[in-house]
Amino acid sequence: MFYGERELKVETVDDPAPAPDEVVIEIKASGMCGSDLHTFRGPRLEAPTIAGHEPAGIVVGRGSQVPQEWVGRSVMVHHYFGCGRCDQCRLGWTQMCREGATAMGATAPGSHAEYISVPTRTVLPVPEGLSHLAAAAISCGTGTAWGALKRLDLHGDDTIAVFGQGPVGLAATQLASALGARVIALDISPSRLERAHDFGAWETLNPAETDSVPDVVRELTGGRGVSKSLETSGASSAAQEALHVLDLWGVACWVGVGSTIHFDLTEHLYKQITGVPSWTLSVPAMEDCANFVVQRNVDVDALFTDRWRLDEAAAAYELSERRTAGKGVFVP
Ligand SMILES: [Zn+2]
Ligand SMILES: [Zn+2]
Repeated sequence: MFYGERELKVETVDDPAPAPDEVVIEIKASGMCGSDLHTFRGPRLEAPTIAGHEPAGIVVGRGSQVPQEWVGRSVMVHHYFGCGRCDQCRLGWTQMCREGATAMGATAPGSHAEYISVPTRTVLPVPEGLSHLAAAAISCGTGTAWGALKRLDLHGDDTIAVFGQGPVGLAATQLASALGARVIALDISPSRLERAHDFGAWETLNPAETDSVPDVVRELTGGRGVSKSLETSGASSAAQEALHVLDLWGVACWVGVGSTIHFDLTEHLYKQITGVPSWTLSVPAMEDCANFVVQRNVDVDALFTDRWRLDEAAAAYELSERRTAGKGVFVP
């Protein structure tokens, strides 16, 4: 349970009782995401909340409207709940519900628990061959990378600069490489760059060791710059450079929360660049991502460097806050 102001406690709560249209899921994997830290470090919460928003597990219970055959299914959860009726909900962009969405681990109970109960419309089957760990990552971190690459309309003949090689950036490096694109991975941590190389990066680049990132990127690309760029770190300097590394007609995408971009129109107008912020992904895109990962044998499990029990939560978030580690997961 997160209380805000870096306080967390492991507590025993009642098992969730399903509403008529809900299923109860026994959690097999609940991933840790960078955005958990916003709630963890944030102001004191009025009511403590169960953390976690990357759930995967097995259906073990059902509400009165849910058919019996759901029980025993392996599932993952799109972790936002909307009204289910508005245009955005019908498109699968539940997080953008016109009536206002709630999000697991923030405004709705999260998945760092043994059991959760969620509406069936937010639940997707885990395709055969996909682990619960990978399904959990696709529920947010890896899914966010996939959503961004789709917003960028990434193709195999693109060269993409991926800023930040934390869990989302590394997933972007992995998926973009699997899609056939050339990836230039950027991070200030040498160990993260080493991992990016292992995950398929064509080139790696440490901004702390160069005077001008755009100059080096241009050198690597025959003087032109990249066709696509993606910023995942939330650092304003990186968000800015995501624009400056682009070739003519390039497209920049930002998923890292918290940065500010100063936009000099004159420079970018004559390059005809496009900028697209991106917020996680839709329900159908989550299904696409899961299927792609299975079909192309993408080793999403390799993203996870730390496995934790629920009673190790304090140590898990302490490590997560230091931001040097890879990605953690609770395996209750
Ligand atoms: Zn809605
Ligand atoms: Zn997340």
